[in-house]
Amino acid sequence: MQEKLTLMIPGPTPVPEKVLQAFAKHPIGHRSKEFQAIVQRTTEKLKWLHQTKGDVLTITGSGTAAMEAGIINTLSKGDKVLCGDNGKFGERWVKVSKAYGLNVEVVKAKWGAPLNPESFRKALQEDINKEFKAVILTHSETSTGVINDLEAINQHVKEHGHAITIADCVTSLGACNVPIDEWGLDVVASGSQKGYMIPPGLSFVAMNRRAWEAQKKSDLPKFYLDLNTYRKTCDKNSNPFTPSVNLYFALDAALEMMEAEGLTKIFARHSRHRQATQQAMKAIGLELFADDGYGSPAITAVKTENFDAEDLRKIIKSKFDILLAGGQDHMKGKIFRIGHLGYVNDRDIITAVAAIEASLDSLNLLKNQIGAGVAAAAKVLS
Ligand SMILES: *Cc1c(COP(=O)(O)O)cnc(C)c1O
Repeated sequence: MQEKLTLMIPGPTPVPEKVLQAFAKHPIGHRSKEFQAIVQRTTEKLKWLHQTKGDVLTITGSGTAAMEAGIINTLSKGDKVLCGDNGKFGERWVKVSKAYGLNVEVVKAKWGAPLNPESFRKALQEDINKEFKAVILTHSETSTGVINDLEAINQHVKEHGHAITIADCVTSLGACNVPIDEWGLDVVASGSQKGYMIPPGLSFVAMNRRAWEAQKKSDLPKFYLDLNTYRKTCDKNSNPFTPSVNLYFALDAALEMMEAEGLTKIFARHSRHRQATQQAMKAIGLELFADDGYGSPAITAVKTENFDAEDLRKIIKSKFDILLAGGQDHMKGKIFRIGHLGYVNDRDIITAVAAIEASLDSLNLLKNQIGAGVAAAAKVLS
């Protein structure tokens, strides 16, 4: 039953009926008064979601566009940047930085481990000539299911006093607390197909006053992603180019749903689902990939030491119509990842756990009593 397929990958995430219906309309003119009202409304709600009074700009493009925009609008050729890399996305921001001729120093941690805030403190403290212009890092590292301590690392950036923080919050925004103004995060990027519960195609970049100051000096080449033009048009409730009009309809509906649920409840739901998923996997006898205490609220990565994770994923998809994510690069076959980001309820978690147990059983790989995982999840959720 392909049309009943449930996505439990870390993006695209499931889309609520209300949002699909909002999306399924004729587009309207993107310079019309009606559309301006939608831009105005969504911009206000985006500021609410980002917990900021600063700018939140909407780009038609995937999450990578928002991150790239953050980097190329605040930095200049040859600038020294400190990049955190403990997975596929950390790796990507190193590549983007190098592609634009930035002078990149990398702070690494092995896959599954969090970035060590001390390494950032040390590198920034040793930078007495204040050469670092930015610290670029990923909050929730989707490839490994690790949440990095963005608050602590950002604090070290603040103590440095010159660099800005450019944070990939693509799978943390709308899943856990990212209070932009309170923490003083300078640039924050996110994408529509994750916590926003809408299809892929829009991305968002939040910029504070310090980020705009850096923007004035930035000389990296840009045209489509020149955020100054987005800011100017956003002030007039418009866009520099033709945006994905229908995705704006969807965004409007999704943000309304998020507002109705409220930030506290949204974060609590993700935290509960993380807890239930982690406990269930342990009860099944599987090991978590992320270090203890560093599991992402959006995704749980699970080790499969004595079998190929791809075999399990295939059965779960064909028999239970649930799509789980696999491991990337050298982790392919060695882990599987359960997305619990966005439009996910308790039933989804229980069902996924039961499907994992039943599939392991059919592969003769179940060590513990069948149902132990469901029982552990139910205990957390009840
Ligand atoms: C999904 C994701 C992105 C954005 O990827 P796109 O495919 O460009 O939307 C960036 N960072 C993280 C951590 C992600 O999970």
